[in-house]
Amino acid sequence: MNKESEHCEKCLYWKPDDRKATPHMGSCSSEKWEEGDDDIPDGVSYADYEGYMAMFKTGQYFGCIHFEVKP
Ligand code: SF4
Repeated sequence: MNKESEHCEKCLYWKPDDRKATPHMGSCSSEKWEEGDDDIPDGVSYADYEGYMAMFKTGQYFGCIHFEVKP
């Protein structure tokens, strides 16, 4: 598989949004993206400083080192 194809759209962890307003965005379920975890050297930590709820979306052509091809 070449690097260009290792993007979220083809990844096991990605689920596209069903909203028509954001057809190129989706959610990643990889455990390497953690809300509030500051000790994940190969991951991403994100936070909401108001203490409510944090979330993120990725674009279909984004990609990362944790890509795994969909079965
Ligand atoms: S490529 Fe990375 S960010 Fe994209 S869905 Fe896969 S694990 Fe998540």
